[in-house]
Amino acid sequence: MKLKSTLLLIIFCLFSIVAISQNHVCGSHHGYLEEQKDKFPQFYKSLENKNLQLEENNAKLLSKVSNNEKSTDKKIIPVVVHVIHNFGSENVTDAQVHDAIRVLNENINGQDPQFISRTPDVFAAVVGKPNLEFRLATKDPNGEPTSGINRIQSEMTQVPEPRDQIKAMSYWNSYQYLNIWVVKSLPTENGGVLLGYAQFPFGGSMSTDGVAIIANQFASTSSSTLTHEVGHWLGLRHVWGDAVCGDDNVADTPPQRYSNGFGDNPGPLPTTNSFPYHVGLQNQGCIADSLNWAGEMFMNYMDYTDDQYCTMFTEGQVDIFNRTLDGEDGGIGYREYMWQEENLIATGTNDGALPPTCNKQADFQEGFGNTSVCLGEEVWFKSNKSMFGSSITSVLWDLGDGNTSSVENNYLHTYSQANTYNVSLTINYNEETQVSSTNLSSLDLASASSYDSTVNSIIVQGTQAELNDMGASNITSHPIDSLGVYFGLDGTTFYRGFVDEVIYTAYYNNSCTSTKVKNGFISVNSETASNTASEYSYTFANPDISNEWQIVAANENPSQWAFNTSSMSSWKHSLSSGGCMMMPSKDGSTISVESLISESYNLSSFTKPAIKFEYTGAAVNTFPSNELNVYYTIDCGDSWSFLGKLTNLHVARAGLYTTEYEPMDWADTVMTKNALKNDNVQFKFEYSNTGASNNFYLDNIQIGEEDDLIKESINFQTRMSLYPNPT
Ligand SMILES: [Zn+2]
Repeated sequence: MKLKSTLLLIIFCLFSIVAISQNHVCGSHHGYLEEQKDKFPQFYKSLENKNLQLEENNAKLLSKVSNNEKSTDKKIIPVVVHVIHNFGSENVTDAQVHDAIRVLNENINGQDPQFISRTPDVFAAVVGKPNLEFRLATKDPNGEPTSGINRIQSEMTQVPEPRDQIKAMSYWNSYQYLNIWVVKSLPTENGGVLLGYAQFPFGGSMSTDGVAIIANQFASTSSSTLTHEVGHWLGLRHVWGDAVCGDDNVADTPPQRYSNGFGDNPGPLPTTNSFPYHVGLQNQGCIADSLNWAGEMFMNYMDYTDDQYCTMFTEGQVDIFNRTLDGEDGGIGYREYMWQEENLIATGTNDGALPPTCNKQADFQEGFGNTSVCLGEEVWFKSNKSMFGSSITSVLWDLGDGNTSSVENNYLHTYSQANTYNVSLTINYNEETQVSSTNLSSLDLASASSYDSTVNSIIVQGTQAELNDMGASNITSHPIDSLGVYFGLDGTTFYRGFVDEVIYTAYYNNSCTSTKVKNGFISVNSETASNTASEYSYTFANPDISNEWQIVAANENPSQWAFNTSSMSSWKHSLSSGGCMMMPSKDGSTISVESLISESYNLSSFTKPAIKFEYTGAAVNTFPSNELNVYYTIDCGDSWSFLGKLTNLHVARAGLYTTEYEPMDWADTVMTKNALKNDNVQFKFEYSNTGASNNFYLDNIQIGEEDDLIKESINFQTRMSLYPNPT
């Protein structure tokens, strides 16, 4: 008995090690989505309605696909790249995106630049060539022009949790486009970093379908991470089957003991010279050497081998691509609609489709990361100039206080009056767009400024007769000896040659202007608040809202409080409920943080200043997740400190409502900290929207002595007890 349980433990440990190590590299293994769903049930539940709608649309479109002969013509896959960035290097350039797609196309079609030098003949004999081309979309889901590169500014580029949140931020129909999300970092729980992860076909919900990848991998032309993840997206598993000598369901990838990356493999890790790898040494291979003298195919993209040694997919792996794209046994492929002519036209990826003109968007940020400053502090305006390359002809900043500047980037400015300022940036630039095709007649040459052609040398393999038919040059013969026994190729010979592919490129020149306006972008505040204990203002900056705000008599509410409406995004004043602030219901399909920031108050005369407010809200499902955090600042918004929190249960305190919740069941809370005794205090209410929710309300916000506010709170609770509980 004892022996048996020890053995079980050892086996369990081995599997654990495998599971942990693969998380360092790629998040796509069988069951990864289930793990995430177990961990974040609310988030995934919130996507359900959206998924049902998408699946319905997909089924409708797939039913239009006529199930004819399987196609061997080139299949074009429309692509959208969502760059989730916070203005750092993760905001990859257009040129880097184009390079990434070019490298993906080379790799997946057996044209890796290292293929010939780093692929042993026995493996090269089974290289797969799916005849695919990934193309950036030129039309978005609404038919509007796009570069196929969708830039979203968000702090979530750093630590998305749950990971799929980035997909909820920006997503195009995955039955029409391959969605690629580029982020700065994908941390794991155990302190590692994922390079990327993909969703398998059939393996998850449509609204999360695609590939997520970290920017430094995406932007590197020597990285094969994108190729690896697209392999998963087209249905492939890792070559070691995610287990010791596991099965990847592909016949022509030999059994493999470990992933050949760091972690579970005790090493030495394979390089080109390691061939044949894990052969002739006891207990390293998975089957007898005599059944596979060639060893492990560590140069397969679905291994974890160093990028420089990865060079190929196999014919068996390409069969799986084709099953995903074209179906099997008379069926329709899961991703069959996306490469149909109708969809290529809809997404602007058909041959000769013109790229959009003047599509670059000017943008800017405050370089110190702080858009709320004290009077006299310097503000740092940073533009996204690098997105425009060297094509900028002129720049104009309008700083909202009568000052303008033509400095391209890194402009420092000090405002001379406390106020809220609109800022705009206009960038004028010249651009050259281009369209390439192997078919000259598909190009619009009439409006092009010029065109040229380049010749690519394409590697082709087959019998000598096949290569002669193709007109291949530099043909070489590659005999396979007993090394090929695993593939049934021992004693055979294949031939390799090169054919020329002519690519025609048309060029178009445009002069463009892009303007970005940010209303209320900079708040400049007095160093000492003018609101003092005797006369706190309660007037809203926006008169439409102030008219609706219920102002109660001074003796009931001795120290009132005002919202600074300039920072409101989707908070709104409720008209029907006697005056209070409302956060409207959410369907959970987007993730956001929405803030209300107050004016400055001088609270130095209080013994123990505190803030009190009433609130109520309801849930729409049994997994409420949204919450309200309250912060304060004593340095004009340079830094915010945590004051208190309403948890998801507080925010949904009235329980489950299937209709729009009207406020009726109010509660209140008092929050305080010693640091509030200061002559310049602002408060921030921050509503974190991470899931579906009903309306949430705030009302009767007061500032005062903590003891007084608590005393009043008891009276208030007594009054409220007269109301029936709606649940
Ligand atoms: Zn993987």
